Amino acid sequence: MAWTLNRQSVRWLAVLAVLLGAGWILWHAFGQKLHAPVNKSVTTPPLIVRVENVDPATLLDKFLVDGHIDPGRLAELENQGPPALAAAADFAAARYEHERNREETALSYIQRAVSAAPSNASLHAWCAVILMNNGQAAEAVSHAERAAQLDPASVEVQRILGKAYYQAGRLESAITTWEHAQQISPDEALAKELEKAKREAAVESRFTEAARGHFVLRYEGGKLGATFTDDAFRALERDYGDLSQSLGLEPRAAVTVVFYNEQQFADVTNSPAWVEGLNDGKMRIPLRDTGSVTPPLEALLRHELTHSFLQDRVPRCPTWLNEGLAQMAEPKDVATMAPAVAAQGTAGEFVPLSQMEGSFQAMTLEQARQAYLESLAATEVLRNTYGMDGLRRLLAALASGVSTEDALRSVTGGGYDDLTAAAKAYAAKYLPQGAAVR
Ligand SMILES: [Zn+2]
Repeated sequence: MAWTLNRQSVRWLAVLAVLLGAGWILWHAFGQKLHAPVNKSVTTPPLIVRVENVDPATLLDKFLVDGHIDPGRLAELENQGPPALAAAADFAAARYEHERNREETALSYIQRAVSAAPSNASLHAWCAVILMNNGQAAEAVSHAERAAQLDPASVEVQRILGKAYYQAGRLESAITTWEHAQQISPDEALAKELEKAKREAAVESRFTEAARGHFVLRYEGGKLGATFTDDAFRALERDYGDLSQSLGLEPRAAVTVVFYNEQQFADVTNSPAWVEGLNDGKMRIPLRDTGSVTPPLEALLRHELTHSFLQDRVPRCPTWLNEGLAQMAEPKDVATMAPAVAAQGTAGEFVPLSQMEGSFQAMTLEQARQAYLESLAATEVLRNTYGMDGLRRLLAALASGVSTEDALRSVTGGGYDDLTAAAKAYAAKYLPQGAAVR
């Protein structure tokens, strides 16, 4: 038989970072709320289908037409048999769609691959990863558990199983499984996730959970005002409706919002005292006032919810756009923000937007203030010139996997340099005299 599924010898390494959660921190400084991304959590995918003598990636050529999967050609391959060939073809299709962030389509292919080769651990593990990306944590757990039964020695499978438990809210199982993975092969990034899960378990052991509409709230029962959760559900649901309309997309699964007091928040996130909120896949919100949903809290919820909307639908969204949209949702505007930044003596060097695609985390406070101002300026320029419709088209282009430069060109006709220049001129309009943008 030309095709076998074999995990033991020469392997096809699918080296693909699966971004299962991105995070943002925000803080107050000089009365100005700032938000900075924290590390993206990355799950290593398992080694996958091995096909003797042939690189399965070459299967793509057999059913890709103009960059799209041709269902007829794929079906031909599937029907040629043996089942291993069908599984490999379906897997190749799933991976192709997964890499382009089309997780619903990827799911249908990976499920067919699993049906064709039900005793392949790696396929079950991949199925679990794609289910997680689709927000189907409970189903992900059962596939990850099956993968672990089939291949108990695989550290990748253990890491994925732990992540599935974590996403399904089964913290204790996640901790045990990740500890087991660390015994097989220690990993620095996972060590951090494990520590965080332990802190979370310690703080949240007495927390209550309530689900309504698009949200799951977690909080310490009896510690909030009588109408707090009702008010929070109502505010969040209204924001959800507004954001789905303005952004033209929605999160794939219910959004979890965890309310802490300030000490609990510091204990879970290990963050400095000035950090005021975080989104690492869950919205983690420290409350100063546990009595009611105040206007500042509503603004914070809108900001963090924007990140939840973007993180699984537009995983390659550049940070400047992500933070620009989140600030716009609060709402915040350059007209009031620019003078405040200038008053702090930090309005200065205008950093090219192309250098602000990644995390703001390593920035100093001054650099971060400037970065948030620029992010908002660029996003306002786009909205004022092309409308929310232009921003929606930009997000759709980014979601399809094209570079930001190309996505910008498709909407504006210009590229990064043009937008940086326009944002710089726009911000300068609102700076007091003498606080020139350099
Ligand atoms: Zn933010």
